[in-house]
Amino acid sequence: MPALAQRLKEVSFSASAAMTGKARELKAAGHNVISLAIGEPDFETPPHAIEAAYKAALAGDTKYPPQDGTKALKEAVQRKFKRDNNLDYALDEILITNGGKQAIMDALLATCDPGDEVLIPAPYWVSYAEMAKLATATPTFVNCPQNNGFKLRPEDLDAAITPKTKWLLLNFPSNPTGAACSREEMKAIAQVMLKHPHVWIMTDDMYEHLIYDGFEFCTIADVEPALKNRVLTVNGASKSYAMTGWRVGFCGGPKPLIKAMVNMQSQLTSGVNTISQAAVTAALDGPQDLLAERAAIYRDRRDLVVAMLNEAPGIICHKPEGAFYVYPNIAGCLGKTSAGGRKIETDTDFAMALLEEKHVAAVQGAAYGMSPYLRISYAADTESLRDACGRIQDFCRSLT
Ligand code: PLP
Repeated sequence: MPALAQRLKEVSFSASAAMTGKARELKAAGHNVISLAIGEPDFETPPHAIEAAYKAALAGDTKYPPQDGTKALKEAVQRKFKRDNNLDYALDEILITNGGKQAIMDALLATCDPGDEVLIPAPYWVSYAEMAKLATATPTFVNCPQNNGFKLRPEDLDAAITPKTKWLLLNFPSNPTGAACSREEMKAIAQVMLKHPHVWIMTDDMYEHLIYDGFEFCTIADVEPALKNRVLTVNGASKSYAMTGWRVGFCGGPKPLIKAMVNMQSQLTSGVNTISQAAVTAALDGPQDLLAERAAIYRDRRDLVVAMLNEAPGIICHKPEGAFYVYPNIAGCLGKTSAGGRKIETDTDFAMALLEEKHVAAVQGAAYGMSPYLRISYAADTESLRDACGRIQDFCRSLT
């Protein structure tokens, strides 16, 4: 077979997708599997978004889109940034992308050269490091330890920045830990970044609306306006509006960066599906009550999962501020043997044994750059969560 590209040798497949695939196989073989491995809302897309898509298709909105996004959606995004984030972006500072994922990839491709470093707070969303490598950059990491609520400490950030750092990626509320930053904490991060003017800052605000107990979301360009000319604010419809399959993300940033990203995207995809853009326009401009209603449901689920996991011997589960993940520490289970005779030396051993013996899929912390932990998504119905956490408790109790 002719050879594949060298740069792909370094790029791994997503561990959460691998775990979801294994769970699917076990299910197909007739097992009662509960998957808490995937970060996807179990709610429906709002009906007014679906109707807008249908109307757009019937009205002939089916031609190539403008490469930077439809005017209607860009204007809706402009209103959203103002309404939710107090950010003013001109229309030529906004880009519509195929999911938030493409905004991140466009930005890295448009700016990174070999040798550049992309600084990623760990634990991190699995794709960041792989995307940096695809863009020929080198991912570097700064730990956000559990004893600091999995938040980024300014002094650690300062120490991790080098002359080669091209980007800092921020993601609070975080996938995989759910940690969010207060305005004060974000201000301290911003103070550090003011000292390093050679670094771009990308903030992935995908979980903005999934935040609980009155904790207030904030985003760095609003917290420190002096940084706005080197911040890319990334967001999307997938998590907030349960629109993962529509593949629409958006971002706001300085005009030269957005222009370079449009160039990148126009070569890759010629823009974003017009029907999906009509749907997301309706979601952003339509009633927003569903965001708070769904957040209240997620909060109850989080409380249930945190309480049940903390009853499992060997597990300590921190209660996070947002997103729909918890990141329990499983250090107390290591060195033991499962009822099925599997030795648990690592979080990967734990996740595999849990899936094979109790048919619960979760993802090992190793995939997110911090062990020994599990990432558990609570974007699932309450009964499944109760059942799954009960099985995890049984699993831990049976370890010897
Ligand atoms: N950023 C984070 C932190 C995510 O968890 C995800 C999806 O899991 C994405 C970005 C990608 O979102 P989208 O579906 O908009 O591409």
